[in-house]
Amino acid sequence: MRQDSFRHKGLRQQMVDGLRAKGINDEAVLKAMNEVPRHWFLDSALDALAYEDRALKIGCEQTISHPSTVAMQSQLLDLQRGMKVLEIGTGSGYQTAVLCRMGAKVFTIERQKGLFEQTRKLLADEGFRAQCFLGDGYQGLNGSYDRIIVTCGAPEIPAALMAQLKVGGIMVIPLGDGEQEMLRITKRGDSREEWQIEKFGTYSFVPMLNGKAMK
Ligand code: SAH
Repeated sequence: MRQDSFRHKGLRQQMVDGLRAKGINDEAVLKAMNEVPRHWFLDSALDALAYEDRALKIGCEQTISHPSTVAMQSQLLDLQRGMKVLEIGTGSGYQTAVLCRMGAKVFTIERQKGLFEQTRKLLADEGFRAQCFLGDGYQGLNGSYDRIIVTCGAPEIPAALMAQLKVGGIMVIPLGDGEQEMLRITKRGDSREEWQIEKFGTYSFVPMLNGKAMK
């Protein structure tokens, strides 16, 4: 079991106070983010920065999202315990762990083999019961989901993912090349006219790439 010191807990409480000040008001999100040690998901060299509102490098040219971005995406999901959630872009596993702590059944896909293997082990070692898959998030997974969260910048809304979202379900996805606009799509029916799209500001994610990486 990794360590979680009083100092880390104190810094984490400050991080959560900061999220509240930024307008995050979903208590389930704030509680989960107060409980999941973000420093576990980073290289120990970055330990001192783990509770600042920053994106940080996690290897394979990828980044862990800002805590405020994780909080915003988690809040937009409007999650209830027991829901099936599909995450695209496992990365460090921090967002995955927050969703697990909120009581979701999480299925997560990563295209980079190195990150997939490292993060699957970390999540399992620390008792986060997510199901991790190596693959291409554009294809999603077989199944249907109450919620879908995309944590990389998507150039388009992936059709396969919308097909795997249940009617009544919600997808949170940063859409665009370079910079992205955060969208919440509520699927009221199968046809595009029945997708309710709301916008929640501009973000900068690493790109959602095509295909599974071989190395
Ligand atoms: N949720 C992560 C964010 C990591 S950054 C965290 O909290 O750390 C986004 C991740 O998406 C990267 O790890 C990247 O490799 C992955 N990614 C990019 N395109 C993908 C695709 N098509 N399918 C699955 N994962 C993808």
